[in-house]
Amino acid sequence: MDHTSIKKIIIAIDGHSSCGKSTMAKELARQLGYVYVDTGAMYRAVTLYAMRGDMIAQKEVKENALRKDVEDGKIQVSFKFNPETGRPDTYLNGERVEDEIRQMAVSSHVSVIAALPFVRTMLTAQQKAMGEDKGIVMDGRDIGTAVFPNAELKIFVTASAKVRAQRRYDELMKKACTEEERQAINYDEILDNVKQRDYIDSHRETAPLRQADDALVLDNSNMTIPEQNAWLLEKAKARMTE
Ligand code: C5P
Repeated sequence: MDHTSIKKIIIAIDGHSSCGKSTMAKELARQLGYVYVDTGAMYRAVTLYAMRGDMIAQKEVKENALRKDVEDGKIQVSFKFNPETGRPDTYLNGERVEDEIRQMAVSSHVSVIAALPFVRTMLTAQQKAMGEDKGIVMDGRDIGTAVFPNAELKIFVTASAKVRAQRRYDELMKKACTEEERQAINYDEILDNVKQRDYIDSHRETAPLRQADDALVLDNSNMTIPEQNAWLLEKAKARMTE
């Protein structure tokens, strides 16, 4: 690559739940020396805050209580690089919540919280600010449509629901430490969650999940991780030198 003509760009990676967006986004950012932002983690952290504050009963959200805390600036989500894992960890009001936000309890409520317009307004503003200097890879559901509609490279990732549920199952099994934790992981429950999140994310009124008109589609149902990474790096390099 001719290094004199390389420009810094914004790379927006959107797509369905559990299709490996963050794994590929992280790797791409590492290879390019870009900042990586996992916006799903931000919605998950706000969800954890609402759960801890008893603001979610069944699927009902105590919207007024949560709105007040959002407006009062009581929910601060941030990232700190973890040298041990080589990845950014998510913090909620200064507390590391990286593992807790990945649990099924949070997954089962996050799409409802993410559909609230005042939550989206707060997090979208933070995400836009993070991209001011470009040189960023951001993944989520609305990055190429609502957060950075002018992103130089937009990718829309998808895979079949069954493949995605299996990947999520394998990931949770790998993280489980005890037999009890392993027993609690249920493939059918994960598959339902994947389908339910797809539905809510695609049908909400504010910034629904949809493929941007100028996005490149990546269906990775039958691709290995190295294959996806190579595909993505090639597309990024092409845009950086255009
Ligand atoms: O990416 P991840 O699966 O961790 O995202 C969790 C949830 O956060 C999604 O199912 C979606 O409801 C919400 N989300 C969103 N917009 C984003 C990122 C995530 O609505 N940009």
